[in-house]
Amino acid sequence: METILIRGGRVLDPANDIDGVANVLVENGRVSAIGPDLEVPGAERVDASGCWVAPGLFDMHVHLREPGQEYKEDLSSGGRAAAAGGFTAVACMANTDPANDDPSVTDFIIDRARQDSPVRIYPIAAATRRLAGEVMTEMAALRDAGAVAFSDDGKTIMDSGVMRRVLEYSNLVRVPIIVHAEDCSLIGDGVVNEGPISTRLGLPGNPTEAEDILVARDLRLAKMTGARLHVAHISSAGAVEAVRRAREEGIQVTAEVTPHHLTLTDEATLDYDTNTKMAPPLRSAADIEACRAGLVDGTIDCIATDHAPHAVHEKEVDFQEAPCGIIGLETAFPVVMDLVRSGELSPLELVRRMSTAAAQILGCAGGSLAVGEVADVVVLDPEESWVYDPAKGYSKSRNSPWAGQRLTGRARATLVGGRLVYHSERGILHP
Ligand SMILES: [Zn+2]
Repeated sequence: METILIRGGRVLDPANDIDGVANVLVENGRVSAIGPDLEVPGAERVDASGCWVAPGLFDMHVHLREPGQEYKEDLSSGGRAAAAGGFTAVACMANTDPANDDPSVTDFIIDRARQDSPVRIYPIAAATRRLAGEVMTEMAALRDAGAVAFSDDGKTIMDSGVMRRVLEYSNLVRVPIIVHAEDCSLIGDGVVNEGPISTRLGLPGNPTEAEDILVARDLRLAKMTGARLHVAHISSAGAVEAVRRAREEGIQVTAEVTPHHLTLTDEATLDYDTNTKMAPPLRSAADIEACRAGLVDGTIDCIATDHAPHAVHEKEVDFQEAPCGIIGLETAFPVVMDLVRSGELSPLELVRRMSTAAAQILGCAGGSLAVGEVADVVVLDPEESWVYDPAKGYSKSRNSPWAGQRLTGRARATLVGGRLVYHSERGILHP
């Protein structure tokens, strides 16, 4: 195992409330020492001057498309995109083909990820068979196979009775339930946020109430069952307020928000770019403000990308026909740096929301630079200015609303288990 000294960076460790310039020594796969004057002859050096040194970023919501849709992404390309984005761990949703509703699929993902991916990949299993929202999966067997959470993400469990049983059973297996909360009957044919913009576009709208109502239902069911509920990709002011009140009530709820729901409004859709089509849709400026305020005050625990690769031919169709979702692993850090530049979040609090919080919610390793911890570490340059070209990225897909844009902030180096897996000047180094 390599001995690596990360020198001269600003160490940001939310788990231990550390923010200061120091050198970080990594030995035998673990953080072995941190100190301002630490020097180790013979150690491989990673220059972090002008950079942040943080626990590796942790994205608890990605779609990696393997098995079944490897033309969009696979565990290798998705893992590489994650490493290049500064992530050391991701959790992948169950809507593969076949769906991850059986331990054999969970086993496959874990085995394949170990061989092919530079970063840790944790499978999230389906809550219901074939994500049909009807019959519960074998949660205990899936958990034993390595599932870290359950979710039918991409689809809402519309049957409240099924949702109740899913939450009740999750108490027995002690794994959180992640909800995609949108009322399908209210969405109807809606493809953009319902409001002035949907009217101008002449496209059917998807109202915020579709999200508000399902989040409210699931919060009541979480209270009734005592289960741990995690709200995926929260996007409406009403849902944020509902989660805030539920936390005050003592309901066990956590929530995530995506980089796009923090920075893009539905006005981004005015030129019918299908790379602005997602579920939930981009919302109004007032909703963005509510999401940002919720992230700042801790109502929303973490940032998750909802990285959703689609092929060019799938997105280059009429807006109404295009699939939902965008890729996000390689742009998340510079995009959400907007909240640091605006003064809403300190660098330490941004790292908490991109790393420590997700590790804690899923009960996985990571999110801490404590001496003795597994060395999942990222070196982030908050000032690097670069033009994002998805064709030069590691994801197999290119569906990004930030394509061609100048971004500020980029990962310089990513270490997983003490091994340098990515360096911005050398590319992916393992596997
Ligand atoms: Zn998703």
